[in-house]
Amino acid sequence: MRAWSWWDHVYLYGLIVYIAIRGRFGARTKHNEKVVRRVDVRDRALVALVFIGSMILPLLYLFTHWLAFADYSFPQFVPWCGAVVMLFALWLFWRSHVDLGLNWSITLEIRKDHELVERGVYRRVRHPMYTAIFLFSIAQGLLLPNWLAGWSALVSFALLYLSRVGREEQMMREFFGESYVAYMQRTGRLWPMK
Ligand code: SAH
Repeated sequence: MRAWSWWDHVYLYGLIVYIAIRGRFGARTKHNEKVVRRVDVRDRALVALVFIGSMILPLLYLFTHWLAFADYSFPQFVPWCGAVVMLFALWLFWRSHVDLGLNWSITLEIRKDHELVERGVYRRVRHPMYTAIFLFSIAQGLLLPNWLAGWSALVSFALLYLSRVGREEQMMREFFGESYVAYMQRTGRLWPMK
């Protein structure tokens, strides 16, 4: 095993909190009855790629020497910034799960009794959970000085986001009609519009 820096610990604890949030809310939505499903091979493949980029490669980096060829070094202030970004990402990840409640799904689905959530962190941003995942992926890059393990989450999640966000909004528009169109007009995708 490689010698651990303080920042490796910070990253690992952040990842554990991230998995705990997802696990807790994921378990709650397990028995949801679905009325719309837009899952396809591409979405599934990209979810798998994100899993590799945000869990497998960082864990290989932490627990083996295999990725050492891609190591580099960065100035001390970089991981400090990473820790701050990670804290904010975890807060936003948790809040978006709380606000979405039973309406959460790992993929493109609408459940029976699905409610359009427009409160809390959804009030001015349509995809705060994706913002949180982007921020967590950036924090990973700022905490782990390795080209592969550091930036694999950001690249894989960017691909999933680009492939999914338009289709997700289309699905929501088809299901919620005018209310979603009005919601789109007063919100930004990843960042508050006004
Ligand atoms: N894109 C959102 C949610 C991600 S979870 C975010 O980043 O915060 C993906 C599922 O959330 C989708 O299948 C859709 O059913 C649901 N969803 C997305 N936006 C929603 C909203 N405003 N209200 C209720 N459900 C929503």
